[in-house]
Amino acid sequence: MEKIRDILNTGSVTVSFEVFPPKKADAYESVRDAVLQIADLKPSFMSVTYGAGGTTAGMTVELADEISTRRGVPVLPHLTCVASSRAHVDEMLARYKELGIQNVMALRGDLPQDGRKSEDFAHASDLIRYIRERSDLCIGAACYPEGHVESRNKSRDIDFLKMKVDAGCDFLTTQMFFDNTIFYNFLYRILQAGIHVPVIPGIMPITNARQLSRSVALSGTNVPESFRAIVDRFQDHPDAMKQAGILYASHQIVDLIANDIKHIHVYSMNKPEVAAGILKNLSEILCL
Ligand code: FAD
Repeated sequence: MEKIRDILNTGSVTVSFEVFPPKKADAYESVRDAVLQIADLKPSFMSVTYGAGGTTAGMTVELADEISTRRGVPVLPHLTCVASSRAHVDEMLARYKELGIQNVMALRGDLPQDGRKSEDFAHASDLIRYIRERSDLCIGAACYPEGHVESRNKSRDIDFLKMKVDAGCDFLTTQMFFDNTIFYNFLYRILQAGIHVPVIPGIMPITNARQLSRSVALSGTNVPESFRAIVDRFQDHPDAMKQAGILYASHQIVDLIANDIKHIHVYSMNKPEVAAGILKNLSEILCL
């Protein structure tokens, strides 16, 4: 299986999709079927999220393994450390090795509501350093063009981002954003800070109003007036809202590629029709 750092180095435009495991095991098969339909679209790679506090650890790896072995798509399982121990991370690394998994997205995770934090890892940079010292995995990490919600100072946020890169991460994927100029400004600021690893913009196609309010509440992402107008107008018409959300995300991607951004990560929300709709809108552009 390929390392994502090599896939990002080929000079071609890449499109990858994020999927998530179910919260409960009895929903695994239906999620797996949707995820394999997304894999059938032959993205450059697929990332699989990790439930808060490690609640889906087993299913994250199982889903990643199915994508890889059944569809041959390179995978990027996520791993969070805020409620985890070194022993647990060692276990996960051993499991990746056994399955031939070559990539990991190393994250802190959101702070647990019960306040029980890890004694071994305080920040994602600690996890990245730990993994880098023990393996040759390709390591991805998260970044936040609008600043992380807990961060009061965007410059400090970028200082901490530099620590993640210096600890050994190979590429960064952004939090969703709906205004590309925010991403371009961010790229400029992190270059100034000496961050030179590939930065993959994360694009979230919004297909219903509830998804927008939930995502914005969690991330603090700015919603431009032009996008708010779309949601206001179409939110009571599910098919129209879905079409408008796919078109808005596609338009963002066209603008990114036109500005020489080579790699795009799409938060597919486990919806094959959304992933397919985006690829259809880009069919000629991705052939260039
Ligand atoms: P960190 O890089 O550790 O940063 C967290 C906060 O601490 C920031 O405010 C930062 O400025 C600050 N900080 C960092 N280092 C230091 C330091 N040394 N001293 C003081 N402050 C510091 N969550 C999940 O639970 N599962 C997932 O699968 C998942 N996937 C994600 C994928 C992407 C692309 C993104 C953008 C986010 C994802 N998240 C996921 C959410 C993420 O876990 C949260 O945003 C979390 O709150 C921060 O994780 P991090 O890895 O960015 O943390």
